Amino acid sequence: KEKLIEVKNLKKYFNVGKGKILKAVDDVSFDIYKGETLGLVGESGCGKSTAGRTIIQLYNATSGQVIYDGEDTQVKKSAVDKKSMKKKMQMIYQDPYSSLNPRMTVLEIIAEGIGNHEVQLKSKEKEARVYDLLESVGLNKKHANRYPHEFSGGQCQRIGIARALAVAPEFIIADEPIAALDVSIQAQIVNLLQELQQKKGLTYLFIAHDLSMVKHISDRIAVMYLGGVVELAGSEDLYDNPLHPYTQALLSAIPIPDPKIERTRERIILKGDVPNPMDPPSGCRFRTRCPKAMQICTEIVPEWQEVSSNHFVACHLYKQ
Ligand code: SF4
Ligand code: MG
Repeated sequence: KEKLIEVKNLKKYFNVGKGKILKAVDDVSFDIYKGETLGLVGESGCGKSTAGRTIIQLYNATSGQVIYDGEDTQVKKSAVDKKSMKKKMQMIYQDPYSSLNPRMTVLEIIAEGIGNHEVQLKSKEKEARVYDLLESVGLNKKHANRYPHEFSGGQCQRIGIARALAVAPEFIIADEPIAALDVSIQAQIVNLLQELQQKKGLTYLFIAHDLSMVKHISDRIAVMYLGGVVELAGSEDLYDNPLHPYTQALLSAIPIPDPKIERTRERIILKGDVPNPMDPPSGCRFRTRCPKAMQICTEIVPEWQEVSSNHFVACHLYKQ
């Protein structure tokens, strides 16, 4: 498989004053393949959104690299090259309503996406493009002159998706795109995203706080805890054979929908809370809550390693 994005030892630290540093993303490495959906899962505050925003350069990385289609995104570029790279990466946000400007019509919102990148388009052409985009997300021309407040949450998310598609991107980060929607609407939006992926050959990073949300849509899944990715594997592999104790706990919390299927996983309740990211534990960042913690876990940061084909984990239990 061809790599679209290589994330290498990426760090994003925030200086939060009084000499304190928030290590929101701390030494994260993974690849994203062309045309796949990589799920990125973890509790709120674990750094998933920050990782996403750093990958698409809404934030400057503190250190590490993001290689996009073979090109280092941090190497200084001309304004034109920068713009064309930005255009390839778009974001869909969690709260569909507040991510749309309430004073703009749907037409203006989506046309703005086009206009930012292709100033030379005539307004008639722009309009036609907007209508096409609306249709591709299950809306139509009749919706173009209305304002965001006239739409439901699910429709607003469709508008947000149309806006992201306006620049014909290759890569889209969907940051909890269904978390704020009614359960009955969630599947529709997931289906729409999948349909668009197939039609347009898009690559997704799909961020969610819960493993049950990403299983269906993701080819592979990365699990994040307190600024670090602790495990990454193909979706099936991760569900059938979770290696990291944190992944095992997350999976054990998912209800099994069919009561006829015997529950083979015992529910693992984690003790304590997620530690303050300003003051993370030494060694393994999960050790204060890990049911399997050992002495070495206090002292040494577990290495990120590929323990079987395409199955990565950072945990001393799997030292090779
Ligand atoms: Fe648990 Fe140790 Fe593995 Fe961390 S390295 S997850 S503390 S066993
Ligand atoms: Mg978030």
